[in-house]
Amino acid sequence: MTSKKRKNCDENTTKFLNYVDADFSFLSSICKTNLYFFENDILVSLKMSGKLFNIGFDADDTLWHCEDQFVEAQNKLYALLPEQKRIDLREATYRIEMSNIELYGFGVKSFILSLVETYLKFRTNANSVELEELIDFGKSMLMGPVRLLEGVESTLKLLSNKYFLMLITKGDLVDQERKIRKSKLSKYFGAIEIVSEKNSEVYLEILHRNAIPKQNFAMIGNSMKSDISPVLNIGSRAIHIPYKYTWAHEEAIMNPLSENYVFLENISSLPKWLDQNI
Ligand SMILES: [Mg+2]
Repeated sequence: MTSKKRKNCDENTTKFLNYVDADFSFLSSICKTNLYFFENDILVSLKMSGKLFNIGFDADDTLWHCEDQFVEAQNKLYALLPEQKRIDLREATYRIEMSNIELYGFGVKSFILSLVETYLKFRTNANSVELEELIDFGKSMLMGPVRLLEGVESTLKLLSNKYFLMLITKGDLVDQERKIRKSKLSKYFGAIEIVSEKNSEVYLEILHRNAIPKQNFAMIGNSMKSDISPVLNIGSRAIHIPYKYTWAHEEAIMNPLSENYVFLENISSLPKWLDQNI
């Protein structure tokens, strides 16, 4: 857009917003027809005016399966170490994972390196065949298809017509980008954020950068530690949809009595809850 057109666009958008006290569904239909080129300005202006609700979605175990493969990889390791007690191995694996996160970050690569380290520590006669088995499983985790959870695509399609959707995920950048590409879900999101940690400061920075008031934001996710507690702490809403497995690192003690905390059984319940509560 040229600077002259941009100036006219800004002026017209301001005039438009001064005269029209419209809701987003009305503006959305206009944006898609005659005023399409104003869309970004209108969206930003609406966010500033607090008229548009924004929803952040976690990705792993909220939109697609993830933790079940980590559990499978751990079980493969335990099967290679039958002489050790499982409870000791679980603790040892977790300790090694935690000590490596600072060096390697989150994600499959970091996890497999930790499994290899645990294997070498506890296997008396370590051998290359078994090591290769662990490494190959890690590669299959990275190369495999993305398996969407039930109801995800239809829910995102429905909500993207009414709300500004953001994907907010943490982990290894290359792996997360690959999963987003394979999922074919990016078309439903107005913004995609891949971060190395999800804490209150990170959420505040994302909201600030996208001009979103905290009272007009809700985060949807499976992790108390990453998706729920830090979002409640900044005064936004958090909608908890648990997955069948939870990584020990993502379990967190929090106060579920917050009025901004919501529990839903599955993602398909989300549109109805939003219709009734937003
Ligand atoms: Mg998750």
